[in-house]
Amino acid sequence: MSIKNVMVIGAGQMGSGIAQVCAQAGFQVKLNDLKEDFVQRGMGVINKNLSRSVEKGRMTEEDKEKVLSNLTQSTDLQDASDVDLVIEAAVENMEVKTNIFKQLDEIAPQHAILATNTSSLPITEVAAATNRPQKVIGMHFMNPVPVMKLVEIIRGLATSDEVYQEIEDMTKTLNKVGVEVEDFPGFVSNRVLMPMINEAIYTLYEGVATKEAIDEVMKLGMNHPMGPITLADFIGLDTCLYIMETLHEGFGDDKYRPCPLLRKYVKAGWLGKKTGRGFYTYE
Ligand code: NAD
Repeated sequence: MSIKNVMVIGAGQMGSGIAQVCAQAGFQVKLNDLKEDFVQRGMGVINKNLSRSVEKGRMTEEDKEKVLSNLTQSTDLQDASDVDLVIEAAVENMEVKTNIFKQLDEIAPQHAILATNTSSLPITEVAAATNRPQKVIGMHFMNPVPVMKLVEIIRGLATSDEVYQEIEDMTKTLNKVGVEVEDFPGFVSNRVLMPMINEAIYTLYEGVATKEAIDEVMKLGMNHPMGPITLADFIGLDTCLYIMETLHEGFGDDKYRPCPLLRKYVKAGWLGKKTGRGFYTYE
């Protein structure tokens, strides 16, 4: 099977980026979200990214139009009835994801691969919601998708070698580098990154230093391009909290307990850059 038609579910930060890189690589892409407004917001982000590439001379206006012509908008999961691959990038919540995968299993053609961009949730559990666990796989892109090279490719317990190979090939076609990872909470990326971010939030919570000072220490002292508090805002504080909860529950180890300050910000709806306010404020 060769992949031609792709559906991306969730037109947020990640979904819009994934749809963009797939469309740039020549795939026919349907970008799906719950409401037309949400899809249009995602399309707006793609349009802006492509315009910036034209301004910087990285692509022509014609290239941009070609990419946009590869994209269609969707608010109906039934639109998955003729796709070869679905990449789900809805919110980091197991109930939401299993619900989507159950429906996709009914709608998508038998040959279709169902991938999830989950940051931390067990692929095996998502796969178990379907009757095709051999065709379910984790495809974990990094944020911002058009810029970041890595895709963690995660096998569920039942994922077939053939499906793994197709997704590895697809990842190369997207001009990304796939790294194979086993299905454990947080995989590699977030098992290592998220406890560091959570600990940075604890240092803020305990008054060890200001947020600016914490970020400065990690930038100047550890050569990180962005401090952990800023990075949390960029990832989304709701996503950070979901991931910490997944690690905490998955390993049953209190070293992964989410910082109460992180919970407080999420309860306030201060989710980071995407809502204009997190630990920092954004125009
Ligand atoms: P986001 O909040 O920006 O976007 C999520 C989108 O999903 C929203 O537009 C929402 O309306 C939509 N959605 C929710 N339920 C849906 C449904 N049932 N059907 C269709 N659309 C639905 O979140 P995000 O940062 O793009 O994260 C999406 C996924 O990607 C999560 O699983 C997250 O863990 C993962 N991820 C995030 C990052 C990151 O840095 N933010 C990195 C890698 C992976």
